[in-house]
Amino acid sequence: MGCDLEEHVAAFAAALDPAGPYRDPSPAERRLAATAMTHLTAPGSDPYAASTALVALGFSGSGGVDAATGRRYTMYAGRPDDGRAAGVVLVDPSVPVRLAVEVPHPNSDLRTERIGVHLFRLAPGAILVVAGAHRRAGNGAADAAHNDRSLFHALAAEAANRRLPQIQLHGFADASLPGLDAVVSTGTRTATPAAVRVATTLREAGLATCEPWRDSRGRLEGIGNVQASTAVRLGTTFVHLELSWRVRRDAHLRAVAVRAVAAALCRVSPGTGRRPGR
Ligand SMILES: [Zn+2]
Repeated sequence: MGCDLEEHVAAFAAALDPAGPYRDPSPAERRLAATAMTHLTAPGSDPYAASTALVALGFSGSGGVDAATGRRYTMYAGRPDDGRAAGVVLVDPSVPVRLAVEVPHPNSDLRTERIGVHLFRLAPGAILVVAGAHRRAGNGAADAAHNDRSLFHALAAEAANRRLPQIQLHGFADASLPGLDAVVSTGTRTATPAAVRVATTLREAGLATCEPWRDSRGRLEGIGNVQASTAVRLGTTFVHLELSWRVRRDAHLRAVAVRAVAAALCRVSPGTGRRPGR
């Protein structure tokens, strides 16, 4: 009997403590994380090698069949309290990986971990990466979206290196952008086809959606995001999605948002951005 994936990931996130321990991984650990991501995502690569690397980083592996989809999953989960910030990595071992779904601020951006599992379920070939520390742990050093020495960043950067499109899930407080449900950005001031498609499908689903390149209210929440910077440097697709608390707190609205995003991203090909000169 497998546990429910969404409840498992939600319980992991709920155990993350803003006052909890945190340390950056060593350079050797970051290289190991990249190796693990390579083995998880490269066609024909060795799942045992991925597992060995992840276990060395503090993850434990488990697997089963997801009752919600009938598809197999492999889950690697760290301990929320040991300071190593080995979060949760979820893959479907029967499908080639084609999309990275990222939750850098679990618990802090409430419900984004649940949204991440929903998107994993709706997008076959997704790999879900949830950060392993509350963003305020370590006096803010654990903010995985702004720390390029974090374990989360090592995993995400290798996903970008492998030309996987990335979608990163965040939340904003309703009072900070009244009347808006979603802000879609790329972490830069320019639009990309994938981001425009995500914004369009969210708007068509009835959510009040802002694109910072069209509407200054978005205030470019993704600026300074280190995963976005890496994706831009490598010329790969990165979509930064911020959802209001009104949407995140409501299971129905979450489902509306996730269906729209999955529909948009299932048509995204890897690396639609500029490719560095070669
Ligand atoms: Zn966030």
